[in-house]
Amino acid sequence: MTERREGMLIVISGPSGTGKGTLVKKLLDVDPSIQFSISYTTRKRRDNELDGVDYRFISEEEYDELLESGAFLEHATVHGHRYGTPAGPIDEGIKQGRSYLLDIDPQGAMNVMKTRPDCVSIFILPPSYEALRVRLHTRNTDDPQEIARRLANAKGEVKQMHHYRYVIVNDNLDLAFEQLMHIIGAERQRTTRYFPHIEEQ
Ligand code: ADP
Ligand code: 5GP
Repeated sequence: MTERREGMLIVISGPSGTGKGTLVKKLLDVDPSIQFSISYTTRKRRDNELDGVDYRFISEEEYDELLESGAFLEHATVHGHRYGTPAGPIDEGIKQGRSYLLDIDPQGAMNVMKTRPDCVSIFILPPSYEALRVRLHTRNTDDPQEIARRLANAKGEVKQMHHYRYVIVNDNLDLAFEQLMHIIGAERQRTTRYFPHIEEQ
């Protein structure tokens, strides 16, 4: 038997603090065929973040230059900061079997869904707004003003959930991760991406 596989464009969104980063890290740890798309941002680097690993941290001027040169697949202003996904060789990589994962906000995700309708879009929902508040405070990476802004934006983001192909409630982390693995596993076997060929006798 011969086979050919195309990769996937996986788009993950959800309110800040819902656990996207935690789930994505677990997924990348077990599946080296998926590449994390490192976004550009004008937000300040948090102490636990690495430039070039979590984000590419750039100035407003550098961001403007990239935007003008058409370097972004999508871009948006989120919680008062600017973020953009580098277009790079994503489409070519997918044809060659590589998968890419984008952790982006609903504005950006909706643009990607329009231009790449075959993307695997997943919305991560928190069990409650109270849980979100607790998680943002426990994570302890943002000041109270930034946390308040993120919580205030959460309700608007949750309203966009129905535009996504899948939703996962991240209450129990192990269960949420299992559900994520099932989605990725099933999507990988779609006949639009997986082309096995059995020889005739
Ligand atoms: P996001 O990337 O969506 O902003 P994070 O992955 O940074 O969110 O998670 C926010 C905080 O919540 C982190 O401290 C993380 O350890 C914690 N967290 C993630 N998932 C769960 C869960 N299922 N239950 C409790 N805490 C969680
Ligand atoms: P954070 O500042 O907590 O890392 O991310 C804030 C929000 O920006 C999250 O919803 C995250 O998904 C989103 N985000 C990160 N990178 C990008 C990107 O390149 N484009 C868009 N549209 N959103 C992004």
